Amino acid sequence: MKYPINNIICPLCEGTSCSIKFHMGVRDIWYCGNCKVSFAWPQPTWNELLDTYNKEYFQNAALTGSDIKGVYGYADYFTEKQLNIKRFVKILTKIEKFLPENSNRKKLHDFGCGLGSFLNLAKERSFSVSGFECNDYAVNYIKENYQFRVENEKSLTSLISSNEKYDVITMFDVIEHLHDPIGEIENAFKLLRKNGLLVISTTDFDNFLPRIMGRKFEDYRRVQEHLFFFTKKYLHKILEISGFSVLTSHSHGTTFIISNLLDRIAGKELSKSTETSSVMKLIGLSNITIPVNLGIKFVTYARR
Ligand SMILES: [Zn+2]
Repeated sequence: MKYPINNIICPLCEGTSCSIKFHMGVRDIWYCGNCKVSFAWPQPTWNELLDTYNKEYFQNAALTGSDIKGVYGYADYFTEKQLNIKRFVKILTKIEKFLPENSNRKKLHDFGCGLGSFLNLAKERSFSVSGFECNDYAVNYIKENYQFRVENEKSLTSLISSNEKYDVITMFDVIEHLHDPIGEIENAFKLLRKNGLLVISTTDFDNFLPRIMGRKFEDYRRVQEHLFFFTKKYLHKILEISGFSVLTSHSHGTTFIISNLLDRIAGKELSKSTETSSVMKLIGLSNITIPVNLGIKFVTYARR
């Protein structure tokens, strides 16, 4: 399928100066000259996204493979979990610092809560927690393992009619998966109390590594699930336009299983992974995880 150059309107800012950046096989990635954000086009439908959000999403051996249709989710969520927990503890400490001090039990909603690790930690720290997740496997996992409320919902819109207000809304690596990221930020604004916090993490495609690696960069290769490729600058602009004040933003690392490290950073065809993995297994390093922080991923805290 061929697309006429400069004939697509940016789904984020409605700018008209869009051009193809990469041909990715299943779909293309376009670049908007107005907001400088790239986007997948044609965007996957909701049903196509649901096909991707399956049980394998959390333990996907095809993540580092050459077939782009298999590039989604986590190589091994359960092995990476411990380091993600360290990151979540740091984030919760920061959230507590920014919230007004009063005796009320704070209400926190995690939009796209995955397997519920963050919500579980927040609950242990006395937050009243709830979450949305559209992966059925994850929703059932949470129901079996935890005692907090999680619903299979794809938009914050469904919370608005309940008239409930929240102190914190979090979206970890979620905003890039949404068909209407600006609409969901506006929904968060409506749902938060005055001085409440919206916490968003995503990848900064202005970073040197995606610039150097281009279409081989793993987050670009995830066009089955990534609809937008944000820059920190434009995300902050959206937050400010939507009425939030950006308080702070910091980079965080990505957790790699050591045997997958080269594959994840460089792509399988560059790293000769089979040989690498075999050597790692032989010397017993295969399942060790390490955090790598190249400033690619960031967390932003914004106040309503
Ligand atoms: Zn745009």
